[in-house]
This record gives sequence, C-alpha cells and structure tokens, in this order.
Amino acid sequence: MKILQPSDKFLRQVCKPVTRREIHTKQFQATIEQMLDYVYGKSNKGKNRDTNKPMIVGLSANQFGINKRISIVDLAISKKAFNDIYVLINPEVIWASESLKESREGCVNLLKIWGYLNRSKRVIIRAFDRSGNKIQIDASGLAAKLLQHEIDHLNGALFIDHLKDPKKAHYVLDKETRAHKKAGKNWNKFIDVSKLVKPL
Ligand SMILES: [Zn+2]
Repeated sequence: MKILQPSDKFLRQVCKPVTRREIHTKQFQATIEQMLDYVYGKSNKGKNRDTNKPMIVGLSANQFGINKRISIVDLAISKKAFNDIYVLINPEVIWASESLKESREGCVNLLKIWGYLNRSKRVIIRAFDRSGNKIQIDASGLAAKLLQHEIDHLNGALFIDHLKDPKKAHYVLDKETRAHKKAGKNWNKFIDVSKLVKPL
C-alpha cells in the first residue's frame, strides 16, 4: 500500500460506490484489513493489533489508489482518546450544521502542509459497516471534522481546497509538528499550494 503524492490525479477522482454484495467478498474484506493495517501502523498489524494504538485517525481508500467509497475513522478523537474505529462504506453526510468552526487540518497525502479551514460543527452521516449493516453517526467537534475530511476524499476533495488563501498554507516539518501544535497559530513558515488546489 502506497500513499499517493499530493499532485496525483487519482486523489481528485470521485470514488465509486460499493455494492452490498461486494461487501461480503473476500477481496473486499482483505482491502479493509489492508487499510486497518495502515491505520494501526507498521509494527501493529493483523491479529496482533493493539487497538489502543492506531497510528492515524482517518484513512480513505483512494488515498492509496483504490477507487472505492471506504473510509476508516477513529471517532474517539473527540474525547482526545483512541480506539473507536469505524469502517465506513459509502458514507454520506445527510445533515450538516450551518454553524461552522475554524480549525487546523493536515493529511497523510499532504505531509508537512497544514491549514486552517471551516467545517460544520456537527454532522449526521449514514453508511454501511463492514458487515453490510446500515449505520448512522451523529458527530460533533473533532469527530465531525474528521468525517467531513474523509468524505471529502471520497469525493475527490482535499482540505487545501477549503483554504481562504492557498498561497499561504502552513509548512511544518514532521518532527516539528508536535511543538507547532502547542504553539497554536504562530506558524511562520508558509507554502504556496495554489497549484494543487481544485475549486470546490
Ligand atoms: Zn486526508
């Protein structure tokens, strides 16, 4: 599994819906396992997964070149904790609050690039789980932001498309990310991502 580069056109394609019959195939379930392995990180795979230790909080299938509407999210993010992993198939936002919140986002396809953008404070989404059951999730705060970020991916959108000034996205080296997060908005290195942006 290889995470695509930010300029890869594949990231800009709208992913195909998954049929309910497909959900129950071995191949499809194997794809989900592969995605979960990525979410949990290199040394935390398969049967030995320590589910308290996911490496990332969200991943969508097209981020590494699979054109299917699958996202994995850790909704415990709202409690500043881990391990409330949901596999979402064909997720869609069925309601989004008009009230917005500005906050910072990054993405594994856009390493070192960060930005501040507005998202709905609360969303209700509908999806299938990996067994094909219909689920509905009502999320606020960080979980709402995460769901919107991942569903954007499935629609070929990236967080940078929402930036007010894509010429001034924040540029932060990976090793500096933690320190920068603490420092809040005082990020003083910028990067022009306007060539990577696709109008919403
Ligand atoms: Zn992302």
